[in-house]
Amino acid sequence: MGAIIFWFVFANIGMWYFFIDRNAARKRRLWPIVVILVNGSFIGIVLGLGLRGTGLALMIPAILLISAAQIYKVRFCDNCGATVGLLTRGILPPASCNKCATDLN
Ligand SMILES: [Zn+2]
Repeated sequence: MGAIIFWFVFANIGMWYFFIDRNAARKRRLWPIVVILVNGSFIGIVLGLGLRGTGLALMIPAILLISAAQIYKVRFCDNCGATVGLLTRGILPPASCNKCATDLN
C-alpha cells in the first residue's frame, strides 16, 4: 500500500512540475526519464501485488505502448515553455502550442 501511495504522489508531482516549469529544453530532457520511472514503477507495483500470467502478459506491452505514446506525443513549447499534449486524447503530437499558438513541428 505504501508503494502505491508513493507512486501516486511521485506521478502527481511529476505532472505538476511539467505544468509549472517554463524551461522547455530542461523538460524535454527530463520527460522520457519521468515517463519511464513512473510507468516502470507501476509495473513494479503490479508485480508486488501478485499479478502474474495473462494479466501481466497483457499489461506490460500496454504500459510500454502508453509510455512510447507519452514520450512521442508530448511537446514542449520553446516560445512560452508550455507542456502541450499531456492531457489531450489521441496519440498524435499537437501541431501548435495551445497557449501561444507557436508551431511545434
Ligand atoms: Zn507556447
